[in-house]
Amino acid sequence: MLWVVPLMRGGRRLKEYYLFKDYVTPWDVKQYVYCPMIPWIIHHLGVSEPATESMEEGSVGVEYKEEIAKKLGLPRPWRFEVELIDDELGVRGKIDIIAGSRSLVIVEVKRYYRRRIEHFQAQLLVYALLANKLIGPVRKALLVVGDKVRELIVDKDLLAYAYKLVEKTWNSILDEKPPLVNQVSGKCSTCWYRRYCLRVLLD
Ligand code: SF4
Repeated sequence: MLWVVPLMRGGRRLKEYYLFKDYVTPWDVKQYVYCPMIPWIIHHLGVSEPATESMEEGSVGVEYKEEIAKKLGLPRPWRFEVELIDDELGVRGKIDIIAGSRSLVIVEVKRYYRRRIEHFQAQLLVYALLANKLIGPVRKALLVVGDKVRELIVDKDLLAYAYKLVEKTWNSILDEKPPLVNQVSGKCSTCWYRRYCLRVLLD
C-alpha cells in the first residue's frame, strides 16, 4: 500500500494525516505494542495472519461475556460488543463489555490465560480512551485472561498513555520506512510475520 501523505506532528488531528480517512483499531495498537513491525507489515504489504484453530477456539461470544459480567459482579446495565468510532482520533473498535451508567467499567475478555499481557493491556486502554471520550467517564478497566483478572484504575495519565500509543501506532503505520525492532528471540521464533519481516529487513 502506498502512503503519499507525510505525517506532520503536533497540533493537527490524527485522522487528517491519513489520506484514506481510515481508522486504526485497538487491535492494531495491541500488535504495535507486541512488535511495531507487525502493523507496519499488515498495512504496507497487505498481509495478515490467517485465523488458526487455537485463535478460533479462543474467541468468545456474548454468552461467555455475560457469564464473566455475572462472575465479576459488574455494575448494571451491561452492554456487550459495543462498536465505537472516533473520527477525531481515527480509531474504531468493539468493546467486549461496558458496565455501569455514570462511572463505567470496561472489560476485555480472553478465554485463555496468557503469560505476556502488556499488549493486551494496551488494547484495553485504547478501548478505555474511546469509551471515555464517546460514552462517559471510565473508572476501571479489566482484562480477563482465562481465570485471571488484571484491574486498571483509569486516570488521566493512563488515558494520556493510551492516546500516545494511538499516535505512535499511526506514526509507525504511516512511515514509509519500517520501524527499527529489536525483539526477544522468543517472540520472533514463533511469529507468523517472520518471513515478511526478514524480507523487509533485507530490502
Ligand atoms: S519476526 Fe520478530 S521482529 Fe519480525 S514481526 Fe515477528 S516479532 Fe516482530
